[in-house]
Amino acid sequence: MLCVKLAKEGQKLSEHFQAKEFACSCCGMVLVHPELLRKLEALRNVVGAPVYITSGYRCPDHNRACGGVENSYHTFGMAADIYSDEKNVNELAEIAENVGFDGIGIYPGQGFVHVDVRGYQDRWEG
Ligand SMILES: [Zn+2]
Repeated sequence: MLCVKLAKEGQKLSEHFQAKEFACSCCGMVLVHPELLRKLEALRNVVGAPVYITSGYRCPDHNRACGGVENSYHTFGMAADIYSDEKNVNELAEIAENVGFDGIGIYPGQGFVHVDVRGYQDRWEG
């Protein structure tokens, strides 16, 4: 697991994703599990267009402030909320399934899909 550190401007974590995209929105700290990154790249390649991260890593304080569940996978760098202009949430969830994400939550109202690498399958609609 990558250690928690401050996301640097322009720092790339993989071909299509930058550290800043995963950084906590309150403090700029970032923690990203390599498995999360690997599967996001796989998903990005299937989509064939930009995939945007609305929430990646959340420090515990920010997670509480934004109403995330306690011990959310976001606080371990193991989850991301994503959307794409090219795919709707159901299509994105299906791709997430195909590339092997474990937890997949569809949020049609907010227009994003939560994906994580928790190690066992879980599906929900928020
Ligand atoms: Zn924070």
